[in-house]
Amino acid sequence: MPELTEAQLDQLIEDIGLKAPRRTRPLAPCGTLAAYQRHMRKHEPIDDACRQANTNAKRTQSGAGKTLAPITNHGTTGGYKRHLYRGEAACADCLRAEREYSQRANKIRRSRARRNGGAS
Ligand SMILES: [Zn+2]
Ligand SMILES: [Zn+2]
Repeated sequence: MPELTEAQLDQLIEDIGLKAPRRTRPLAPCGTLAAYQRHMRKHEPIDDACRQANTNAKRTQSGAGKTLAPITNHGTTGGYKRHLYRGEAACADCLRAEREYSQRANKIRRSRARRNGGAS
C-alpha cells in the first residue's frame, strides 16, 4: 500500500465526503456536559448553564449527591458492596455477611493451598 502524504490524505477524505457528516451533526444544547466540553475544545467562553452541567456531572461521578436506589439486600455481601459504592459505612448486618463471606473464602483458599502445597 503506497504511503500518502498528509495533503493527499486530506484530499482523499474530502473526495469521498468523509468530512461532510461531521458538519451536519446536531450540536448538544447548552446546559449539557457535551456542550461544556465543546466550549472547552473550541476555547469558547463557558456560560452558566454549561458550567452548572459540568459541576453536576463531576458531583455525579464522585458519587456525592447521587440519588441511589435504597439498599434492599442488607445482610448480604451484595448489600455490603452497595454500602461501599454509596461511600458510606456498612450496617452491622452487611458487615457480618461480608466477614462471614471472606472467612469462608479464606478457608477455601487455605484448603486449596494445602492441597497444592509441597509440589512447588
Ligand atoms: Zn454553553
Ligand atoms: Zn446494610
